[in-house]
Amino acid sequence: MGKQIVILGSGVAGTIVANQIARKIPGELRSGATTLTLLGNTETHTYQPGWLYLPFDLVRPEEIKRSQKSILDPLVHFFVDPIEKIDLPGKKLTSSSKKEYPYDVLVIATGSVPRPDLIPGLQEGGHWFYTEEGALKLRDALRAFQGGKIVVAMGVPHKCPVAPLEVTLMLDDYLRNRGIRDQSEIFYTYPVGALHTIPAVAKWAGPVFEERKILSETFFNMKEVDVDKKVLHSLEGSAVSYDLLISIPPHRGAKVILDNGLGEGGWIPTNKQTLQMEGHDNVFVVGDTTNLPISKAGSTAHFSADILVENVLSVIEGAKPSRIYDGKVFCFIETGRNQATYISFNYSNPPSPPPPTSSVHWMKLSYNRLYWLTARGIL
Ligand SMILES: Cc1cc2nc3c(=O)[nH]c(=O)nc-3n(C[C@H](O)[C@H](O)[C@H](O)COP(=O)(O)OP(=O)(O)OC[C@H]3O[C@@H](n4cnc5c(N)ncnc54)[C@H](O)[C@@H]3O)c2cc1C
Repeated sequence: MGKQIVILGSGVAGTIVANQIARKIPGELRSGATTLTLLGNTETHTYQPGWLYLPFDLVRPEEIKRSQKSILDPLVHFFVDPIEKIDLPGKKLTSSSKKEYPYDVLVIATGSVPRPDLIPGLQEGGHWFYTEEGALKLRDALRAFQGGKIVVAMGVPHKCPVAPLEVTLMLDDYLRNRGIRDQSEIFYTYPVGALHTIPAVAKWAGPVFEERKILSETFFNMKEVDVDKKVLHSLEGSAVSYDLLISIPPHRGAKVILDNGLGEGGWIPTNKQTLQMEGHDNVFVVGDTTNLPISKAGSTAHFSADILVENVLSVIEGAKPSRIYDGKVFCFIETGRNQATYISFNYSNPPSPPPPTSSVHWMKLSYNRLYWLTARGIL
């Protein structure tokens, strides 16, 4: 039997890695010298950043979904077979259907999940747009909203670090367009002592919030929601009442990572340069499930996948990893009023967002369509 590369998780990172490997070693895959297997939980691939637009009626769910098979190179063996056991010493995975998947090199790309259950009352009293179901429920709540106080609150950590600002500024636009902004208050809360963890982004957001009359409280970490009284309490001891609560729940790694004890919180200890799992040279980690000191974002998954693929191919040949990831991330930031800006940074160079423009907004909207080329390993 040839060598076996197995990728666990068919989201952004796993799909890019699978397609890129298929494009780099088609001969070996055709001859059977190497087999490439991708394991997922679902037949459907969803472009998660599209969920930001769903609550504001700016996109329909079917526009941001494709069949997983349709975006995969035919040389990738794809199975929907949820994995339960990751046996690192035995070099094999076992699924819930008890099928075993042995590997020579494993790539773990199981992502992260919002966990509203970690904040008492949040599931019952809050809304979020970090799942399709949640985004549609929030859309319906916003459609019914006729004015009042909307509180925006985040748990830590969470993927897409700029989404709190994006949703707040898009909400301001949405309420204006519906003619109910004057009857509404937007109250933004943030866990650290600034409007954002990235200082340049926080500095930029200050005057924008002032101009758009968005109120805020920093050092606000969600503790619990009093559903009956419609009050959100913080760990810092303050309380804020709401008519509608829009949250980003705290995130954790996938259940399979937690169940197999591969990393505290589901975050796998990962070498920040080679992207190997610490202590396991034949296991690589990519996307949200790493413990890298960098944003959990699709672009992180994309840029690190470029490096990881080369290193996987070196290791499968018996060599050492040849490429180093520098922590590159690029994120667009929707700023409302048909404008957007962006941040670009890496482990050693912090970002500085330029003034928002409409051309960057259109670039982001175009990228939302072009994403499928990224997933295919082309862009
Ligand atoms: C509202 C929103 C807006 C966002 N906006 C942006 C943005 O503008 N820019 C940006 O760069 N990023 C953005 N992101 C973040 C981005 O979507 C994620 O960081 C990205 O999807 C991470 O990729 P991943 O492959 O690590 O995880 P995922 O894409 O979540 O994929 C993980 C996959 O692993 C599978 N899996 C888990 N456990 C198992 C198992 N046991 N067996 C089999 N399969 C399993 C899951 O089903 C899933 O398909 C946004 C996210 C959200 C929710």
